[in-house]
Amino acid sequence: MDKSYDIVIHGAGISGLALALSLVRREVAYKPSVLLLDKNMPEFRPEFDIQPRSVNDFDNRVFALNHAGKKLLESIAVWPGDDSVRVFSYDQMYVWDAGGHGQIHFDAAETGLPLLGYIIEGRVLHGWLTKAASAEPMIEMTGNIELESYEEADTGLRLHLSSGDNPGTRLLVGADGTQSPVRRLADIDTICWSYHQQAVVTTVETEIDHADTAWQRFLPEGPLAFLPMQKPWCSIVWSVSERRAQDLCDMPEEQFAECLMTDFEGRLGQIKTVGARAGFPLKFAHASRYTANRVALVADAAHTVHPLAGQGLNLGLLDVSALSRQITEAIAKRQDIGSRRVLRAYERSRKGDNWLMQGSFDAIKHLFSNQQSALAYLRNAGLNIVDGLAPVKNVFMRKAMKGRIC
Ligand SMILES: Cc1cc2nc3c(=O)[nH]c(=O)nc-3n(C[C@H](O)[C@H](O)[C@H](O)COP(=O)(O)OP(=O)(O)OC[C@H]3O[C@@H](n4cnc5c(N)ncnc54)[C@H](O)[C@@H]3O)c2cc1C
Repeated sequence: MDKSYDIVIHGAGISGLALALSLVRREVAYKPSVLLLDKNMPEFRPEFDIQPRSVNDFDNRVFALNHAGKKLLESIAVWPGDDSVRVFSYDQMYVWDAGGHGQIHFDAAETGLPLLGYIIEGRVLHGWLTKAASAEPMIEMTGNIELESYEEADTGLRLHLSSGDNPGTRLLVGADGTQSPVRRLADIDTICWSYHQQAVVTTVETEIDHADTAWQRFLPEGPLAFLPMQKPWCSIVWSVSERRAQDLCDMPEEQFAECLMTDFEGRLGQIKTVGARAGFPLKFAHASRYTANRVALVADAAHTVHPLAGQGLNLGLLDVSALSRQITEAIAKRQDIGSRRVLRAYERSRKGDNWLMQGSFDAIKHLFSNQQSALAYLRNAGLNIVDGLAPVKNVFMRKAMKGRIC
């Protein structure tokens, strides 16, 4: 007899794991049963709990996490504390335009908060979540499995997995990333285009101390960000054309260091060492709906944004929090967790906000890529004007740092 679960989450990435934990770690009388499936096998790597000592000890994928993201991780008891050896923070940010003299400086002190945000490595965050989920009796995790199809049954869905198992569920959640198989199986359309760019990521050692500051220079091809890790290391995210990305990943380390220093105007001096490099294709994608019959999408399965504002995962964690809240409330009221009413309430709470944020990032991307001299002049003047207006700057900072965790 195939088992049944209250919720099946397809995708045990950061959003899938966070959702599973958020569902079972809330203070409620009834804890739902959760099956978490992934084509890979999630594993906890204890080496990521120790102090990094060289450029090779870091994961080259990192996330700038805002206060709302941290709050969600605290609420599910996976935040190790601000003083953990793998939690890096920043209290200042400089953004400037390569095509002029415009620049803007954000300072945490102006917001009344001690810092602007955190930098966390992807594998570290994934490791914390996997360890926590493995300890939860109501979460069953299975790797090396894919969802092949599903069908509607009496009071739920019947899933057909690559293992040959056919579990039942009342709700299927697609937390399976930008190519989301759940989105495809549920026949949900997506508005989507490629930026024909890749983000080249790596860790570098810099000659000059990063001063707990996040740095971003807008170049004609795309932004180049230096994100502060443990001193003297920074993680970089460098958005360039697909062709240049390939060249940057293939060239010798010294040549890469030279190109990087030039494009960064040498603000942190020489680039002394460079870690493993990788390129990630960049695209815009937004699902036309976040829900279908007994199906919900979260995070990159619902929306994929340009990394220029470091907000993709932060938006995804807000989805996780909102969906988990709707499900928990439905359970408390003895409602059907897969009902249209519950799922629509989730979609209404997130879709507008996500559209707005995603549209803003796309507009910024195009504004800074445009080399028309009049526009470049206005852009630079605009940056300087905003820089001089503390209340306007505060609005930007608060928008990027916060979000409602339910
Ligand atoms: C270069 C770069 C830098 C970024 N920087 C930031 C940042 O600073 N801050 C920020 O907030 N966001 C950032 N983002 C965005 C962030 O990476 C994503 O929003 C986030 O990783 C999405 O997480 P997810 O769990 O939704 O998807 P994923 O991490 O893609 O996880 C999806 C999971 O589903 C599984 N899966 C996929 N297909 C199948 C299948 N067929 N069967 C079974 N399982 C499947 C995968 O194995 C994976 O485990 C950045 C993105 C890029 C590209």
